[in-house]
Amino acid sequence: MNISKLGRIICITCLILILTITTGGISYGTTTSDLKQQQNDIDKKINEINSEIAGTKSKMTKNLNEINKLNDEISNYENDISSLEERLGIVNTQISEKETNLAEQQEKYNNQKELLDARLVAMYENGETSYLDMLLSSDGLTDFISNYYMISQLAEFDEELLQGIVETQNQIQAEKDYLDSAKTEIQETQTSIKGKQTSLANSRNQKKAVVSQLSEEEKELQEELEIYEEHKKEIQRQIAKASEQYSGIPVVPSAAGYISPLSGKTKSNITTGYGAYRGHTGADFACSGGTPIYAVKSGKVYKSTAKMKNGKYVSYGEYIIIDHQDGTMTLYAHMLAGSRAVQENQTVSQGQQIGKVGSTGNSTGNHLHFEVWVNGKHTNPAPFLP
Ligand SMILES: [Zn+2]
Repeated sequence: MNISKLGRIICITCLILILTITTGGISYGTTTSDLKQQQNDIDKKINEINSEIAGTKSKMTKNLNEINKLNDEISNYENDISSLEERLGIVNTQISEKETNLAEQQEKYNNQKELLDARLVAMYENGETSYLDMLLSSDGLTDFISNYYMISQLAEFDEELLQGIVETQNQIQAEKDYLDSAKTEIQETQTSIKGKQTSLANSRNQKKAVVSQLSEEEKELQEELEIYEEHKKEIQRQIAKASEQYSGIPVVPSAAGYISPLSGKTKSNITTGYGAYRGHTGADFACSGGTPIYAVKSGKVYKSTAKMKNGKYVSYGEYIIIDHQDGTMTLYAHMLAGSRAVQENQTVSQGQQIGKVGSTGNSTGNHLHFEVWVNGKHTNPAPFLP
C-alpha cells in the first residue's frame, strides 16, 4: 500500500471516529438529517470506488485477454521453431551422409590414382628404358605388342574411372552445397522466429506486470470500500438508534427550530387554537391518553409540577415548562397523572419524552394543552410548530 492510500484510509478512519464521538448529544432532528447527509456522502463515495473497481477490473480483463492472445502466438512460434528444428535435424543427417559419401569417393579416387600412377610408372619404365627388355622377355613380337597394348588400355581405363569418380564427387559436393544453404536458411528463419518470440514474451511480461499492478490497486480499493461500508453500517446503526429513541416524532424542525410535541402531529392537527375562546392561552391537540409527549426543543426544565387544590387537580393539572434559553419557553399541560418524566432544572434534549397525554386539571378529555411563551408572555404556538 502506498503512502497516499494509507493517508486516505487514516483520514476516513478519523472521520468515522469524529462522527461517532460528536453524534452523541445532538438533538434528534439535527442528528438524523446530519446522519442522512453523511450516509448520502458515503453512498456517493462507495459508488465512486465501485466504479473505480469496475474500471480496474475491465482493464485487467483486457490485459489478460491480450496475454492469452500473446500466449497463443508464442506457442504457435514454438511449434514453428520445433518443426524447423526437425527439418534442421534431417538436413544435418543428409549433410553428414554426403560428407561420408564424399570421403568414400575420395578414398576410391586415391586408390585408383595410386593404381594409375603405378601403371604409368610401369608404362614409362617400359616405354623409355625397357622396350627392349619387354621385347626380349616377351615371347616374340606379338606377345610384346599385346603386353604393351594391355598396359596402355588399362591406363586409359583407370583414367576413365578416375574421371567418373571426380564427376560423382562433384555431384555429391553440389548436393551438399545445396543442403548447406538450406541449413543456413533454416537457421536464419529460426533466429528470426526466436527474435519475434522473445519480443512477444517481453510484451507479455509487461502486460503481466500491468495486471499485477492493477490487482494491487483493486485490493487497495476493496480495502477502502470495506472501511466506507463499515462507516455506512455505523451511521445506519446510529440512525436506527436515533429513530428507536425518538420513534415516530416529526423530525423536521420548523423555522423556529421546534419539532412537534406529539408523534405524527403538526400545527394542522390543532383541535382548539390559541384564543379560540376567551382565556385560551395555548393550542390543544386532542389525542388518546398515554400518548408520549416530547420536548419541542432542547432546554432546561423550568417547572415540573401538578396544580392541586383540596387534593384535586385544577387548572393545568400535571404540567411542565421548558426554558429553551433562546427567549422562548414551552408549556405542556393536563398530563397523565404520574407521567412526568423530568424534574425541574434538568436539561432536556429535543425529542426527549417528558410525559404522557392525560386529562388532569381543568380538562374535559384527553388532550395536550401546549403553550409558547416569548419573553414570559404567552403567544400563538402555531407559527412555532412544524
Ligand atoms: Zn387548551
